[in-house]
Order: sequence, then structure tokens, then C-alpha cells
Amino acid sequence: MTLHQLLNEGTGRLKRAGNPEAAGDARRLLLEAFRLDTVHFLMNRMEPLGCEEGIQQAADDYRKMIEKRCRRIPLQYILGCQEFMGLNFQVDSHVLIPRQDTETLVELVLQEQKDQNKKVLDLCTGSGCIAISLAVLGGCYDVTATDISPEAIKVAEKNAAKLLKEGQKIRFLQGDLLDALKEQETYDILVSNPPYIPTQIIRGLEPEVRDHEPLLALDGDQDGLSFYRRIAKDAGTILNPGGAIYLEIGHDQAEAVKALLEEAGFSDIRVVKDLPGKDRVIRGDLSRNR
Ligand code: GLN
Repeated sequence: MTLHQLLNEGTGRLKRAGNPEAAGDARRLLLEAFRLDTVHFLMNRMEPLGCEEGIQQAADDYRKMIEKRCRRIPLQYILGCQEFMGLNFQVDSHVLIPRQDTETLVELVLQEQKDQNKKVLDLCTGSGCIAISLAVLGGCYDVTATDISPEAIKVAEKNAAKLLKEGQKIRFLQGDLLDALKEQETYDILVSNPPYIPTQIIRGLEPEVRDHEPLLALDGDQDGLSFYRRIAKDAGTILNPGGAIYLEIGHDQAEAVKALLEEAGFSDIRVVKDLPGKDRVIRGDLSRNR
């Protein structure tokens, strides 16, 4: 048996299970199981594999991972990681897999907010990808992140332990949005990628998302806007005068969320598009004279 044969076997299995990225996924899982980089895979793929225990084990692991992928478990949960903003985040089924779309939000905050002393609050932190990227790449040193899921908080804490630079720290708090915080606490920058998919839409999503990503991280209630309503309502009390808000939004939610932010007293409200050109982030400033 060769790596090439194993790859063909796995690709065929994934194709029959209806996986649209069969060849790429099989190769990624093969590299993972055999702990190989692409160069060594290409050099050795036609060599007969030995029958040492380690090799048999790797082949077994590979086949198990292929079976998981046939059940449409996302590749990232099988591998246990996803890159975001050039950082390698650990993920499991308790957290949303960080998306490239969300990098638009982080990049906008990094561009607009250069003062590292500003206090940052990340609501619905999930894997911690937004909070940790702002700390590592923006040098923000006072960052608080909350999530309703205790399991998500554990994942975020592990990511922080692995990715933060020496001396950096993020405060992770478990609780439903602002309930996680003590009263009287205020911040300069509020960021969030809250759940924003309307409930009825979820059942039409890809099985990877619908059946495996946490519903808690996706479901924005009937119209998808319930978290924006709650965040906008409380933003004025949690943000310092002159503070700013940055929210990820669904591609068709800009108008509705803009109206909510206007009503909450925000100005200079702008919508920023993601790489594919869809509305993805909304930002606003809170007046200094409140
Ligand atoms: N903040 C995390 C992310 O952007 C999780 C978001 C969520 O759970 N809705 O990936």
C-alpha cells in the first residue's frame, strides 16, 4: 500500500458520501494522520508503506478521520484547529469555527483603534478569536471577553494561554451578554460577532454548519436581529463617552442594525464589506458629550 493509494481510497469514500471537496479534504487528513508536509508527501507517495506499528496506526487514524468527514463533521473539528488572522486557533464542537468574514471586523478595529490602552469588550467570544487577535496583533492590553457557554470559555482560555504574548492577559467571563459583567464596568470599544442567523434559515444550511456547529452560536431568533437589539439597548451604558462599537452582521442586515445603532445614539455609523463584497461589519461612535 502507498500514500497515493490511501489518498485515492479516502477521496473515493468522501466523494460517495457527497463531500464537495473530497480530494482536498482527503489529502489534508492524510497529511495529518502521517504527520507529513506536502513536500514529503509528494516525494514519498508512490513508495510502499512499511508495516511498522506506527504506520498501521497512522493508516487507521486516517480512515477514522475520513469516516468522520463522511458524516459531514467539519474538517476543522476533526483537525482541532483553524487559522484566523494568521494565528492558529484550537476549535471543537462547542465553538463556532472562526471565519474569514470575521477578519474584516478585526482588521477594521486594528486600523481605526491604535490606542492600546483602550478597554475592549468582546461579547460572544466563542473560540476567543476576535479578542485574542486584538490583543496579539493590536497590543490591546485590557481585554474582557464573555460567552454564555462555559465550554466555549474553556476553549477560549486555552487559545489565550497558547497565543497571547508574555505578560498579556484576557479576562474571560461566562454569562449571557452583559450579565457576565459586573455593574458599573465601562469600556471604550465593544466588539461582537453575535449569533445572527434567523432560526428558520438554519435548517437550509450546509450539514457541516447545521448539524455540527453550536446552534447557540448561530441562532439569532426569528429575524436574526435579537442580539443586535439587546446589544444596542445596553451599549450606551457599557461604553464610555466617545466609545466605539464594531459588530459583524449578516449580508442583508445592515439597514436594520444601522437603525438600531442610530436609535441607541451612535453616530458616524458605517458599513464595511467583506472580501467577497458583502456587507459584513457595522461600526459606530458614541458621542463624547453624554
Ligand atoms: N466570536 C466568535 C467568532 O467570531 C464566536 C461568534 C459566535 O459564537 N457567534 O468566531
